[in-house]
Amino acid sequence: MIDIKSNLQIVKEEIAQALKRRRTQFDSDDVTLIAVTKNHDVTMMREAIDLGIDEIGENRIQEASEKFTTLDRKVKWHLIGHLQTNKVKSAVKMFDLIHSIDSIHLASTVDRAAKLINKVQDILIQVNLAKEESKTGIEIEKLDELIEKVEECENLKLCGLMMIAPNYENVEQCRPLFRQMYEIFQQLKGRNLNKAEIKYLSMGMTHDYKIAIEEGANVVRVGTAIFGQRNYD
Ligand SMILES: *Cc1c(COP(=O)(O)O)cnc(C)c1O
Repeated sequence: MIDIKSNLQIVKEEIAQALKRRRTQFDSDDVTLIAVTKNHDVTMMREAIDLGIDEIGENRIQEASEKFTTLDRKVKWHLIGHLQTNKVKSAVKMFDLIHSIDSIHLASTVDRAAKLINKVQDILIQVNLAKEESKTGIEIEKLDELIEKVEECENLKLCGLMMIAPNYENVEQCRPLFRQMYEIFQQLKGRNLNKAEIKYLSMGMTHDYKIAIEEGANVVRVGTAIFGQRNYD
C-alpha cells in the first residue's frame, strides 16, 4: 500500500529544506506543489486532496476529462502534458493553467477556443532548453516571437514558463539548465509586457524537484514521490 500521507509529508519537508538551500533571493518563498495524478485513479486523487493537496496535474485530455466529471472536489487543474490542437476545446474547459504552450499555432488555437467560452486562459510557455528531440517545448531562440504573439491574443494570459529537464543519470546535470531557466524567467519578469503577469516558473519532478527549487522553481510537478510508481498498460 502506498502511504500518500507520509509521502506528502516527506515531499513537503524536502521542499522546505530545498528552499533553505536556495542560492537566489526571491520576493517570496512560496513553492506551489502540483500533485501529478496521471495514471492514478480518482480514489487516490480524493485521498491526496483530503490531505491538503489543492493543485493537481494531468497530462492527457481524455484521462483528465473522465476524472474531471467524476472528482467531487474543488481543485486547481493543471495541464502539464503536450496539447494537440484537436483537444484544445476540452482543455480550455477544464484547465486553470496550461503549462505546455509551445508554438504560435497552438497559442492561437487556444486563444480562439477560450474566446468561444468567454474565458481568459492562463498559460505557461514550455521551453525545450536542452533541445531534446523527443521533447516538446519551444526552442529558446523562438521564445520572444511566441511571447509577442501571446501578447496579441486577447484570451490568453501569460503567467510564466515551464521546463522539463532531461532524464540525466546524474541529476546534478540538470542544475545548469534550471539556473539558465531562472535567468530567462527573471528577464521575462523585467520586461514591460502589457497583459502578462509573470509569476510561475514550473520545473522539477520527482527526481529533480529539490535541485529545481534550489535554482529558483516556484512550481513543482510531483507524481511518483507522492503516489508511487505508475502502472502503464
Ligand atoms: C509525469 C509528469 C510529471 C511527474 O513526474 P514524476 O517523475 O512522477 O514526479 C511532471 N511533469 C510532467 C510534464 C509530467 O508529464
